[in-house]
Amino acid sequence: MISLETPLLSMEDAQAAARPLRDTRPKLSVQDVSKWFRTRRDTVQALDSVSLDVNDGEFVCLVGPSGCGKSTLLNLIAGLDRADQGHIVADGQEVTEPGPDRLVMFQESALFPWLDVLGNVTFGLGRKHNLPKAARHDVAMSYLRLVGLERFAHANVHELSGGMRQRVALARSLAPNPRMLLMDEPFAALDAMTREQLYGDLQSICQARKKTVVFVTHNVREAVCLGDRVVLFSPHPGRVREQFTIDLPRPRDINAVELAAHASEITAALRRHAQPRAAEEVA
Ligand code: ADP
Ligand code: MG
Repeated sequence: MISLETPLLSMEDAQAAARPLRDTRPKLSVQDVSKWFRTRRDTVQALDSVSLDVNDGEFVCLVGPSGCGKSTLLNLIAGLDRADQGHIVADGQEVTEPGPDRLVMFQESALFPWLDVLGNVTFGLGRKHNLPKAARHDVAMSYLRLVGLERFAHANVHELSGGMRQRVALARSLAPNPRMLLMDEPFAALDAMTREQLYGDLQSICQARKKTVVFVTHNVREAVCLGDRVVLFSPHPGRVREQFTIDLPRPRDINAVELAAHASEITAALRRHAQPRAAEEVA
């Protein structure tokens, strides 16, 4: 029998019960991550103690010069590679392998040449076993429509321009409706017109579907156009240097003058972080 003096809840239990139910953990947490690559000739440290939290629904752009570890970090978040030190936690679980909720879109579209356009987009839905075939077709077509390629549903991949292939890849990444999108310079090879259109599309999709996005780019203006936050990296070894909150209203136009002040602030910071190394090289 429980005596009246016995407290039914410990102080910790009572405090936990009083906490709001909303999960306030970040969607993604990169904790003190380091990564080395060992080649036959030498060892390169690609990332040095990188820590970064990304909130649910946030669009974070990673910016930095070539070789600063952006792709390495994205691959670790995707679960395609393992960190040598530190942890990556997504939705409260340590990332140890790729998952359907963390899809990557690469610079090169990596489409399957033996499938037509529709087949490539439908392929991404293959894991959704509960989705009937007709529904898969409809979902795939709706994303092709979104990227303006509905008419090319039955075209072969090799018949498409580079820009069109990237749009197919975007449709393929979006179709399974992943909560987190990891994008590695996805628009770098596109012509300016296509890119501008996709900036608009991506912003409206992410807002409507509450996606969490980690977007890698070396284009500062692109980062300011898309990001809620821009995280600046410097190379040798890759480190987080500064972070910038971009609180401009959406949708943002890449050519809007309001972007210029943020872009020049970040470009100046990029130069600043590149300078000590340049001085070392001269010395
Ligand atoms: P970024 O995407 O910012 O251009 P990366 O993440 O591709 O940079 O590369 C970071 C550093 O790690 C570079 O010095 C690169 O040469 C090195 N690196 C990346 N991947 C490998 C690999 N598989 N083997 C050896 N070195 C690598
Ligand atoms: Mg890269």
